[in-house]
Amino acid sequence: MARVARGADALSARRFAVEGLVQGVGFRPFVQGLARRLDLRGWVRNTAFGVEIVAEGPAAALDALTVALRAEAPPLAQVRAVTAGPVEPAGFRGFTIEPSVAGAGRLPVPVDVATCADCLREARDPGDRRFGYAFVNCTNCGPRYTILHGLPYDRERTAMRGFALCAACAREYADPADRRFHAEPIACPACGPQVRFPGGLAEARRQLARGRIVALKGVGGFQLACDARNEAAVARLRARKRRPAKPFAVMTAGVAAAERIAHVSAAEAAALLGPAAPIVLLARRADADLAPSVAPGLRETGVMLPASALHALLFDGAPFDALVMTSGNRTNEPIAIDDAHAAAAFGDIADAVLTHDRPIAARADDAVVRVYAGAELPLRRARGAAPLPLRLPFPAPPLLAAGADLKNAFAFAVGRDAYLGPHLGDLANADVASAYAASLAHLAELLQIEPEVVVHDLYPQAFAPGLARAFAPRARTLGVQHHHAHVAAVLADRGVEGPAIAFAFDGTGYGTDGAIWGGECFVATVARAERVLHLAYVALPGGDAAIRRPARLALAHLAHAGVAWNDRLPAVASFDALELNAVARQLASGLNAPPSSSMGRWFDAIAALAGICSEATYDGQAAMELQSAAACGAAEPYPFALLPGAPAIVDPGPATAAIARDLLAGAKSDVVAARFQATVVAIVVAGAGHVRAARGLDRVALSGGVFQNADVLASCEAQLTAAGFAVFSHRRVPTNDGGIAFGQAAVAAARAVEGV
Ligand code: ZN
Ligand code: ZN
Ligand code: FE
Repeated sequence: MARVARGADALSARRFAVEGLVQGVGFRPFVQGLARRLDLRGWVRNTAFGVEIVAEGPAAALDALTVALRAEAPPLAQVRAVTAGPVEPAGFRGFTIEPSVAGAGRLPVPVDVATCADCLREARDPGDRRFGYAFVNCTNCGPRYTILHGLPYDRERTAMRGFALCAACAREYADPADRRFHAEPIACPACGPQVRFPGGLAEARRQLARGRIVALKGVGGFQLACDARNEAAVARLRARKRRPAKPFAVMTAGVAAAERIAHVSAAEAAALLGPAAPIVLLARRADADLAPSVAPGLRETGVMLPASALHALLFDGAPFDALVMTSGNRTNEPIAIDDAHAAAAFGDIADAVLTHDRPIAARADDAVVRVYAGAELPLRRARGAAPLPLRLPFPAPPLLAAGADLKNAFAFAVGRDAYLGPHLGDLANADVASAYAASLAHLAELLQIEPEVVVHDLYPQAFAPGLARAFAPRARTLGVQHHHAHVAAVLADRGVEGPAIAFAFDGTGYGTDGAIWGGECFVATVARAERVLHLAYVALPGGDAAIRRPARLALAHLAHAGVAWNDRLPAVASFDALELNAVARQLASGLNAPPSSSMGRWFDAIAALAGICSEATYDGQAAMELQSAAACGAAEPYPFALLPGAPAIVDPGPATAAIARDLLAGAKSDVVAARFQATVVAIVVAGAGHVRAARGLDRVALSGGVFQNADVLASCEAQLTAAGFAVFSHRRVPTNDGGIAFGQAAVAAARAVEGV
């Protein structure tokens, strides 16, 4: 630290500690710029807690610095706290960026940022030394979490450590006036990573244009790409991936290309252009010329913009402006991140593999959001979002929340911060389970956290609890019921301590009575939940087989409603006599037909009954297709029964019976679907009214995968608000099982505060 002897009398000096997301976002150069503007001297450095500054100069200038650190922070920074205290002036001569200091402490982990406009301009400028360079980045953009091995965030702890800077890059890195001053992943064609593909990007572009399937190494893992307007190519990808229906995301060259596919509001355009470049769910245009196989049976298509310069350059001069861009994996496996595994995984899926020599340190799938009520609502927290810290309402002991088995994401928490890890997928797959273990170890290393508590689901056969316990074998354990975790997640998400009337509607979760729950209403605080109302138990004939074949659920719901299996109903006609007998026996005996209060399974049953979906090849397919099939506009709910008690029961039988009657009388499936969704909303409103009358509560919280259905969610919010309730749904955390770990962490924190 350069200093000269000098009279200290005219100077005051202060030491600042800045906490929050302040590393990997251009914060040190920003501070240096501020200091120069304010004529302050001293230094700035990264520490294990954030950024530390010592500045000296006139008191007024130091005050101005205090304000500007927050008010003018770089766009990607999130300043949480600025603390300042007096120190002895040392007579510094300039204002320098000092080497980082490692040490005990916990930093927000910087997340990946899509290539900025300045960098893209250089990559497209034939006169620039980075012309055509796929790994261009600066302090405002580029990979972060996916290249990080440790913190503080410095090049030697990233996947860039193997690339020695050339003289030109070293100059930019050291020049405070340069946009790449201290940009840790700085690179150029002379010294940085290189694309590996015979013939380069131009040849990859030609192959895509010819309808070939190309696996490419993206930011947080491999992706599979093909021309989104070429039906033969998309259908071939589906056949090879053995993924018959689950929607593919589409990457477009820009917002204009997205608008040719879907309706894009101003808020949706902002989400597409955001630093995370997430997949945004958009309403497809009626005249969109996408291949029909991109998102069969659905009204929405997930669209994202290029997440890296590699992606952006692929579109330049190409005859296509929309590519299917789906996770590079076999169905149900984790996204591949290393070249050796990719070669094995894609040998019979992709026609060619476009890779490069920058390793991926951590896996991160593409994030998914929807714009709801003008704001971005996360459906999958992954690249660009995970593992940014989420505020907890209570301080937590160091803990690991295992998450759910489906749509798994785990979370670490300590103090008021929960770090929800990236979406991993279905833990029943052995490779996903090992990805879980690797992600746990990686994030624990970044956060320097040693869990004292492991929070987990109650289901005895669940995978996540065992994996989490294996990671922290000495930690205490705390079991939290799945739907309590859902409602704790939404209460903590919105900072509501409770008690509130809290609905958790989803597909499947293990209940405290051994039944499969999923249509639940609680009087809940974050710490505790009392089940006050649920959907009546209806058997799941064949267990998992019923989930794969919703027509089985239609039979069960018809039987529950006391409606005969009339083979003029297509769902009934899809079975032969032998199968019908087998299901009847299962329902009569209860053998391999567990009781369930699942709202999601009722959606499945009605989707099958209405002839919308009788086989489900991916989680949530029947419910998503039912929503897409539903006619727009107001619809009359079907009747249902609300039976008071402890807990009260909502009997879906009257509605199921009315639907069967309507269908036999020739009702159209779009009308039935709309009326069914209106029924679900009416159940929420009636249930909330019932609990309010008994308990005097007027706050309602909504969570669970069913509320991914934006039509149902919006109607619930509107009608509950009109009925005088304050309504809370998710904002920061997914409403599906991707938010379970956050809820588990919140329950553990709330219990710790109670001293339990
Ligand atoms: Zn940039
Ligand atoms: Zn270079
Ligand atoms: Fe759930």
